[in-house]
Amino acid sequence: MTNKKVLIIGAGMAGLSAGCYAQMNGFDSEIFELHSIPGGLCTSWRRRDYTFDASVRYLSGTSPQSLTHQLWEELGLFDAATPVYIYDHFMRFEGRDGRAFTLYTDLDRLQEHMLELSPHDKDVIHDFIEAARQFRQMEMPVDMTPATPLESMELGQTMLPVLWPALRWRSVSVHQFASRFTDPLLREGLPEFFQFSPPDFPMMLVLSTLAMLHDHEAAYPIGGSLHLAENLAQRYLDLGGVFHYRSRVNRILVEENRAVGLRLEDGSEHRADVVISAADGHSTLFDLLEGRYISATQRAYYRNLPVSKSILQVSLGVADDFSAEAPAVNFPLPEPIYLGNVRHERLVLKHYCFDPTMAPPGHSTLSVWCEADYDYWRSMRAHPKHYRAAKDLVAQQVITALEGRYPGLSEKIEVIDVATPITHERYTGNWRGAFAGWALSTRKMSMMMTGGMNKTLPGLENFLMLGQWVEPGGNVELSVASGRDGIKDLCNALDRPFATRA
Ligand SMILES: Cc1cc2nc3c(=O)[nH]c(=O)nc-3n(C[C@H](O)[C@H](O)[C@H](O)COP(=O)(O)OP(=O)(O)OC[C@H]3O[C@@H](n4cnc5c(N)ncnc54)[C@H](O)[C@@H]3O)c2cc1C
Repeated sequence: MTNKKVLIIGAGMAGLSAGCYAQMNGFDSEIFELHSIPGGLCTSWRRRDYTFDASVRYLSGTSPQSLTHQLWEELGLFDAATPVYIYDHFMRFEGRDGRAFTLYTDLDRLQEHMLELSPHDKDVIHDFIEAARQFRQMEMPVDMTPATPLESMELGQTMLPVLWPALRWRSVSVHQFASRFTDPLLREGLPEFFQFSPPDFPMMLVLSTLAMLHDHEAAYPIGGSLHLAENLAQRYLDLGGVFHYRSRVNRILVEENRAVGLRLEDGSEHRADVVISAADGHSTLFDLLEGRYISATQRAYYRNLPVSKSILQVSLGVADDFSAEAPAVNFPLPEPIYLGNVRHERLVLKHYCFDPTMAPPGHSTLSVWCEADYDYWRSMRAHPKHYRAAKDLVAQQVITALEGRYPGLSEKIEVIDVATPITHERYTGNWRGAFAGWALSTRKMSMMMTGGMNKTLPGLENFLMLGQWVEPGGNVELSVASGRDGIKDLCNALDRPFATRA
């Protein structure tokens, strides 16, 4: 009997993971990727001696003690010797009054610091730190798709400690919680620790991230985002998988309501038993499948649910050492600036001095990520000269703003790089250049906790959708877990045991 053929659209983290598990489970898989490299959003790029990163600042499951580590073990991505950087503090938020709120990752130290800043807020601070401590028990198991009654029972037991904190916090937003602080620095600073979060960003995610950082279960992987993706791509090759790079899929072939293959931009067709799209959700549903297979609920998501913000990234390679600076500093500007058409009263500067692979010794890679308007950059892109000029202008504005804070910096700049929402769209196909699929809100959190989004489409057989557009959360772990879940579903449908080893 020949193995079933699985074709996967997208070599992002979800597609790579699906490919690896497909190979482990006896499928013959091939991945089609529009770009010339793997990783999708999980990427970095080299400019002269500097590497600029566009994704992972922290990855969950980096400690062998954490449940998520199972994923990395199965995929051979991390072992105890894999170098990571453990944050002592994650970000510093500077107020206009000269004080600074530092998000220490050690909860005792954080509590002490917050009490020093605002003794009046003792009760709220206590509530905050205690809640983060409760979330230390709240790690989700990797396998959330039990296939047998025994697996269901085991999952139930693991989830028990998670239930109470999850129910208490699931509909509380970070802004609601922060409004309880009387101190304006704490009130303003707490919601800013998660850049680009919408106003109803779930407090639960702040607490669970803090708990992971405290336990060193989340850390920065040395080597950056592309390095992670390349490791996973190598694993896929080692398992016998096949890549087709520079291969944009422009149609999913359907016969008698079954997905039977793909058509590429160059017109070539590839047949399969199963098609998986780990690419952008909007283009999968409305372009590759021409809107023919979509439920009313799914259509409503794409009409009504906010997507994650589009972002502008200005990166600099500088001949100076920023290692004494906080890994990320959120600071107020003396005067607001417009980057493109979006007004900014603050900037967030990140450096990567804790990763020796990003810049030569004594040099630093700096990045400013800020919110951007997709439509503005789309309209600029229509005129290449205007687009280039707009990019040059935002780079100059950011450099001037940084110069105000770090005098002399502009003379030490060796490389300047600007990525816009159009860059994200061009290299990853993501809808409106969204940086992490759906925006995460308390409403979405509740929805995810009560069933989540469908990976299948009504009336279409032999097809699965995976990745950040069906697993809202916008992180590498969720996308990789989604690839695993998808292949497990396929194995279940074929009544085969699911293997997590080659
Ligand atoms: C600024 C930023 C910061 C982030 N920070 C973190 C962090 O700290 N920690 C963390 O865990 N995560 C972080 N993330 C999120 C994480 O990078 C993403 O959620 C994750 O990489 C998404 O993976 P995916 O495979 O689901 O989707 P994608 O990465 O979008 O992959 C989809 C792939 O499909 C390909 N594709 C699309 N259309 C087609 C087509 N028609 N034909 C062929 N190929 C196609 C794309 O090129 C892409 O490679 C961050 C992301 C960004 C942008």
